[in-house]
Amino acid sequence: MSGLVLKGITKRFGGTLAVEQADLTFEEGALTALLGPSGCGKTTLLRMIAGLEAPSTGSITLGKRNITDLPAHKRKFGMVFQSFALFPHLNVRENVAYSLTISGASKTAAAEKASTLLDLVQLSAMGDRRIGELSGGQRQRVAIARALAQEPDVFLLDEPMSALDAKLREEMQVELRLLQQRLGITTIVVTHDQREAMTMADSIVVMSNGRVEQVGSPQDIYHRPENAFVADFIGKANFFDGVAEAGGIRVGDQTLVSKSKFHAGYQVRVAIRPERAALDDAEGPNRLPATITFVRDLGPHREYHLDTAIGPMVVEYAIGEGARPMKTGDHVEVRLPPDALHVFPHPTAAMAAE
Ligand code: ATP
Repeated sequence: MSGLVLKGITKRFGGTLAVEQADLTFEEGALTALLGPSGCGKTTLLRMIAGLEAPSTGSITLGKRNITDLPAHKRKFGMVFQSFALFPHLNVRENVAYSLTISGASKTAAAEKASTLLDLVQLSAMGDRRIGELSGGQRQRVAIARALAQEPDVFLLDEPMSALDAKLREEMQVELRLLQQRLGITTIVVTHDQREAMTMADSIVVMSNGRVEQVGSPQDIYHRPENAFVADFIGKANFFDGVAEAGGIRVGDQTLVSKSKFHAGYQVRVAIRPERAALDDAEGPNRLPATITFVRDLGPHREYHLDTAIGPMVVEYAIGEGARPMKTGDHVEVRLPPDALHVFPHPTAAMAAE
């Protein structure tokens, strides 16, 4: 096979537009995350890829083959669901071997394959255990081994970590990513957790309200967000509404120097990441007087909450990086480097332009 391509995929449920005109390419061997808030359409998109839901319009091709109307069981895709959906009456080995036996493999061949897969997910010592005797992380590994048993062309996972606690979730993200890289299997993971997407994915598809907002590497999405939604959803950002003018952006009665592509008078929304704003004495434009209203010590970094002439703002320093610590009530100057300012159309102006 080669990549999986979606063209003009739309899904309506009655009056609800769950997915709107998705054009996406999933590269062969890559891990792609479908990321977005609850209800944005990511599960519906995954279910259409799996063949569990028919698109209202559009096509899905795998390599040269149009699979839009191919039933799920003929797609040779492996799936892991939120609930893992394991068989409680079978032991670990039997769960993994089950699909092999029903698809005609001999008992010996199925057992051999199951044992290789259990090795792969580091569960060989637990083959005889019942599902009820496993931890959440171990169950997830069984679900992964079972989905890989059929050597799927594409591996689909819907919120695979949601049943695990935070620490285990992070460990499993790394483990799953290493396994996926080792097998080189084209993989699509649905998640609403941006850290999870950034930990695992080669490419992230950010969605909201059924629409694809941006597709890019984790670095692209974080450092070069294409609109205010992506800047807000991925990581943290300070936002200010303003109007474009020659050489900058007018926010309230201040002008911020910025390279913006918008013509004078255009309504814009400016974003800056908390770690890109600076409380320092360095030369440069966009220095604003500020008062520290709150200090939050978060262990590895410290957040300064500020009141400024253009509104409240948060500045973040890694501990050890930001020289002298400051305290609530201090009067300081905050510097907003022009190259750290992201300028987007204001959401209402963007809507009017559509
Ligand atoms: P979550 O993270 O909460 O699972 P999601 O991003 O996966 O959300 P979807 O489950 O794809 O979102 O749902 C997208 C939209 O489509 C929602 O408004 C949802 O209510 C609607 N929807 C999904 N499935 C159906 C269905 N079978 N019938 C009617 N509406 C549906």
